[in-house]
Amino acid sequence: MVTGRFWWAAAVVVAVSAGAVGQQTAPASQPAAPAAPQAPGGGRQGRGGGPRGPAEQAQIGPGEECPPGMTEFRAGRCGKPASPPPSIVDYRPNSTVVAPQHLVPRAKFPVIDIHSHLAITPENMEQTIKQMDSLNLRVLVNLSGGSGGGLRQLVQTIRGSKHANRFRLFANVDLNGAGSPGWQEREVAELEQAVKDGAIGLKIFKNLGLTARKADGSRLKVDDPDLDPIWQAAARLNIPVFIHVADPAQFFAPIDYRNERWLELAIFPGREYPQDRYPSFEQLMAERDRMFARNPKTRFINAHFGWHGNDLGRAARHLDTLPNVVFEVGAVLYEFGRQPRAAREFFIKYQDRVMFGKDAYEPTEYPYYWRVFETKDEYFDYYRDYHAFWKLYGMELPDDVLRKLYYANAERIVPGLRVQ
Ligand SMILES: [Zn+2]
Repeated sequence: MVTGRFWWAAAVVVAVSAGAVGQQTAPASQPAAPAAPQAPGGGRQGRGGGPRGPAEQAQIGPGEECPPGMTEFRAGRCGKPASPPPSIVDYRPNSTVVAPQHLVPRAKFPVIDIHSHLAITPENMEQTIKQMDSLNLRVLVNLSGGSGGGLRQLVQTIRGSKHANRFRLFANVDLNGAGSPGWQEREVAELEQAVKDGAIGLKIFKNLGLTARKADGSRLKVDDPDLDPIWQAAARLNIPVFIHVADPAQFFAPIDYRNERWLELAIFPGREYPQDRYPSFEQLMAERDRMFARNPKTRFINAHFGWHGNDLGRAARHLDTLPNVVFEVGAVLYEFGRQPRAAREFFIKYQDRVMFGKDAYEPTEYPYYWRVFETKDEYFDYYRDYHAFWKLYGMELPDDVLRKLYYANAERIVPGLRVQ
């Protein structure tokens, strides 16, 4: 993982080795930035030294856009920067905002992380418990529990330890080959056994709808009726289904300079879903929503806010039409943090329908969530520049909403969390 901090360090090394930093001093809290390249032709002239403006100009009409390399600096007038512009990879301006900062290393209330993939072993358990205690993480739910002997082994490790109440597991089913003779019976039986063995939910990965194949080689659609016995088994077993469908809509869109995730898609080209080979984002959403509606007795935890964190009106309609669905907040913090007032209203109105999850287990990243949810801090950094090139703002959620988000909703929706 490349963090903002790492980029800084790399940038400084490059700048120093190129001799570009010179005598410049940086603010104490931040490393020195590489110097901006000078305009060709030397230094700038002062106010008395004659007009200095854009290197080139162009006029545009209403609704027209500036030509590439130019920006609209006055209404209808485009200008080309006099200095060569930096690439978005290198442009990291220091914020000059001086505002109160309230770092939150430890959550205000105990937290259940419903979305983890950390497999606990005798080797990493004590270290993990120490980290969890300092963050106020009470329970970590590993969604990658698998099935059969592997799952039993993981349960054994947890139950045989002195931290048996701090870890839980969800089971998985094998989706490939759905529709083949005996598949339904086998997978339902595996799921029943996994629950007997200690699994407290079922996790469905994003391969459903994207890469999972039926026995005949066709794409396994999210709402394929062959899957209904699985959803119905979950309802009968009184376990929730944690489901991740699709990815951010921008991963399905052209990777051009309009794409908010351009940098991420350029760093991880494999995250793109070329539309000649994959279903569209909207097609996957439609399949998912039909499946949720057709299985009203099954409780679904819709991972990553169903990828609707950027459209809270749509997120609200989703919850309004599907009473058996709740949202999980993993990996979409940057959506709430850039619209904190609307997000705050949403979390208050739907306070019984949101659950905390983080996805990647990285102890240094949890405090960003606590800060967005708990404080009213403004204009602060996110932990991954390529996810979100913008700053975050705090939502200052009320205590009763925080409690529900952090643990109470999880305890209600996932009965297995209550059994100690
Ligand atoms: Zn995950």
